[in-house]
Amino acid sequence: MEKPIYPLKNMRITQRYGEGTHINSFAIDDAGKDTGIEEVYAPFTGTIKKIYPQDANEVWLESDNPVEYPDGTIDYMTILFAHADDISNLYVGKKISQKEAFYKEGTSGNATGNHCHIECAKGKYQSPGWTANSEGYYVIINGKNPEECLWIEDETNIINSNGYNFKKITEENTNTKPEEDSNIEQLEPLPEQSNDEEENSNLENQETPPQLIYTCPKDDLYGIYLKEGEQLYLK
Ligand SMILES: [Zn+2]
Repeated sequence: MEKPIYPLKNMRITQRYGEGTHINSFAIDDAGKDTGIEEVYAPFTGTIKKIYPQDANEVWLESDNPVEYPDGTIDYMTILFAHADDISNLYVGKKISQKEAFYKEGTSGNATGNHCHIECAKGKYQSPGWTANSEGYYVIINGKNPEECLWIEDETNIINSNGYNFKKITEENTNTKPEEDSNIEQLEPLPEQSNDEEENSNLENQETPPQLIYTCPKDDLYGIYLKEGEQLYLK
């Protein structure tokens, strides 16, 4: 199951949620490594559900399957990106793979410098994608704190997390397929339990089957004299 990954390789969060134009929302802005334009990667494998080119080239991507939230919640996720300058290669219904670079920072809409506006929402895409909040800003429906949605990787270069603490994907929290049992020592089956024809026939063909010669009366250390070639069976 996929863990949604923070969509930029260089984290430089320039505006927190709840502040300024992000009032009453869980939106964050990330400006990437520098003032240039960087790629934005799909946090999960999903499908584009809506594009709004009249404003800031907003794009809604919905996960194709439930994903694993950092707190262990399993649910679908929808993410909204804004400000890319050119989205002419995108269309509703387009499938995007996890970690695929499909969006970019930019300045379309109400943006003063190249950045990407990011809003996460719990669950599947809900039409019409956003709703006006009490301050008059349009925010994604069912928005959720990005720290509670997105994971970072070892490779994520944190330039400025702006006080946020994203959970990191580690070997411990990664589901790995258990290794084959090749390392586990196979115990030889006892002759009585063996299905091996040869083994059984050998036992059956013995001239003298094991005979009871002594019953141990109590736990102790015992000595026994054996002649060459004699076999000792213990039960
Ligand atoms: Zn923003």
